[in-house]
Formats: sequence, C-alpha cells, structure tokens
Amino acid sequence: MTIAPSDTTAPVRVPGRGWTVRLTGHSDRSASVTCTATCRMPGRSRDIAALRRFAAQHAAAHAKAATVRPNASCHCRAERCEAHPGHKAPCAGGVVMILRHDPVVGQVWIVEEVCETCAPLIPHARVLARAGTPRRAAAVAPADPDAA
Ligand SMILES: [Zn+2]
Ligand SMILES: [Zn+2]
Ligand SMILES: [Zn+2]
Repeated sequence: MTIAPSDTTAPVRVPGRGWTVRLTGHSDRSASVTCTATCRMPGRSRDIAALRRFAAQHAAAHAKAATVRPNASCHCRAERCEAHPGHKAPCAGGVVMILRHDPVVGQVWIVEEVCETCAPLIPHARVLARAGTPRRAAAVAPADPDAA
C-alpha cells in the first residue's frame, strides 16, 4: 500500500505541539499529576516529592519522545505569546523544543515547540532540542531579504 505522494515543494506548516504537566494539591494534603495528553498518571498520593519527580520526568519524556519538526508553527504564538508579555517580537527562526518550569512555583512543567525568537523571551524556559537543519529547499525563504 502506498500513500499518494503530496506536493512537497512548499513547506507545510503544522501546528506546534505543547504538553502541560501539572501537580495539583488537594485539601487532604495529597496531590495528583495531570497531563494535557492522554497519559496514564499515578493516583493521588501524599508523597508530593515523588509526584514532583514523576511530573518532571514525565515532561522530559514527552520532550524526548517528540522530534522537533522544522515546519512546526510556534506554539507560543498560538497562545498569543502570553508567556512573554511585553516582548512581542514577530516569530522567526527555526523551531526549538523548550521546557518551561518555574522552580518557585514548582507545579507546572510545559513542553512545547516554539520559534527561536520566542524561546529566549519566555521566562524559565530551557531549550531541550532544535529542529534538524532544514533541507536545502529553495522554497524555504528566510525572512532576510539580503540573504543572497
Ligand atoms: Zn503526558
Ligand atoms: Zn511567543
Ligand atoms: Zn514564536
């Protein structure tokens, strides 16, 4: 069985992906971990430290399992760049996979595909991976008119 070849001359943008892993506390001093993907999560527990470790590892696993796609659109932009208010540069550059985690809050881990322009503007973001060097397709025109 073959898949009909699609016209690949133009780079097709795909939506950037994002996963949010959250540690939520409950009134009985237990906590649970949720993931925006349909992942199997451990049950509620009072061992918060263990849950926190699990959450951090789970976010890292998503980042590891997902290959950064060079044609992904910026996930930050999809959320109107709310992650970095005040620094709204137009999205440009390659695609990177970032992990956002504020150690002070310590309850949310976000893995997402964003552009190289947004990545350094997002607080508490660490670049985990970059898209492989784009194929030398002439159709991928850089936003630099002086590029000869
Ligand atoms: Zn997950
Ligand atoms: Zn942004
Ligand atoms: Zn962006």
